Amino acid sequence: MIKVGIVGYGTIGKRVADAVAMQKDMKLTGVTAHSYSFNTEVANEKGYKIFTVGDDGDLKLNGIKPAGDINNLLEEVDIIVDATPKKVGKENIEKYYKPKKVKAIIQGGEKHETTGTSFVAQCNYDEALNKDFVRIVSCNTTGLCRTLHALNKFDITSVHATLIRRGADPGDIRHGPINAVVPVLEMPSHHGPDVRSVLPKCQIFTTALSVPSTLMHVHTVIADVKKKVNVDDVIDALSSATRIRIVRNAEHLRSTAEIIEFARDLGRQRGDMPEICVWKEAIGAVSNGYNKLLYMQAVHQESDVVPENIDCIRAMTGFKDGQKSIEMTNKSFGIK
Ligand code: NAD
Repeated sequence: MIKVGIVGYGTIGKRVADAVAMQKDMKLTGVTAHSYSFNTEVANEKGYKIFTVGDDGDLKLNGIKPAGDINNLLEEVDIIVDATPKKVGKENIEKYYKPKKVKAIIQGGEKHETTGTSFVAQCNYDEALNKDFVRIVSCNTTGLCRTLHALNKFDITSVHATLIRRGADPGDIRHGPINAVVPVLEMPSHHGPDVRSVLPKCQIFTTALSVPSTLMHVHTVIADVKKKVNVDDVIDALSSATRIRIVRNAEHLRSTAEIIEFARDLGRQRGDMPEICVWKEAIGAVSNGYNKLLYMQAVHQESDVVPENIDCIRAMTGFKDGQKSIEMTNKSFGIK
């Protein structure tokens, strides 16, 4: 059994904790609480051991009995999944994980240079084998890497993508916009270079903007390819790759709202959709002296990175068969 601790029990951390608890080869040792909130209350009700980071007064006042502090958690685990806010993961590597010689996964808010290895299971599982520190790339980068990796069989020469990003997560009352479209004022945006942290040969250029929605990001992608392609070839390539779902007009899955409703109806935990959803009718191919393929995809920001964390735990603790790990993880999530 791989003993896993979660540091940072928020949007990503709580999902990874539940996913770890579902794996037959893993044991959830415990989760941290930085302060008391409904998240801590839920962890407590689920019977997860809670370890404090900083002052435990707030927890005790609210009836939570911590099992110890973060240092106690580190003594009991084989690996930590750190899902703290941007920059804290990097600090925690220096402050806790290196001195205690504990392996750790950090998330996409951190920079690639912090670990030197960035991970998307179906693209580069082997690169994480037995590593001490690995970064799971952001939700957007995960989405782009999954589909571009599947489509690279057509020899992609360059990619142009626009990322239409949700303004905030559903439970987030601090961010927005609530009545604006906000462009990312850097050209190209930083998302392209991040894809190259996993797919180093991918010549990708991105622009990005945020919109008033909490339900998924949407990417529009145009790729130049060497090989002549048609729409059916693209559908076949995407359908045969893992963690990508083709959604169709006939199903009335025409928007991010309907995709999330679909995930709820499927009985997915929290209504999550960890697969990248590509609209069948928004796949195009042009061969007019040049070969281009075009598509639009929806990325569920709260959940697409969660199976990646599970596969990365296996890789870093020495499980060599990436394909098998992906299958085990998919089965536990109900991903076909
Ligand atoms: P979050 O704010 O929802 O959760 C962070 C958790 O960490 C909270 O429970 C907070 O109390 C705790 N925390 C804060 N400071 C801490 C500290 N010093 N020590 C221990 N715990 C601390 O954040 P999130 O959205 O889950 O993001 C976590 C990471 O995942 C970030 O790197 C982010 O970029 C990345 N990520 C987020 C999303 C998303 O859509 N939310 C998607 C992919 C990747």
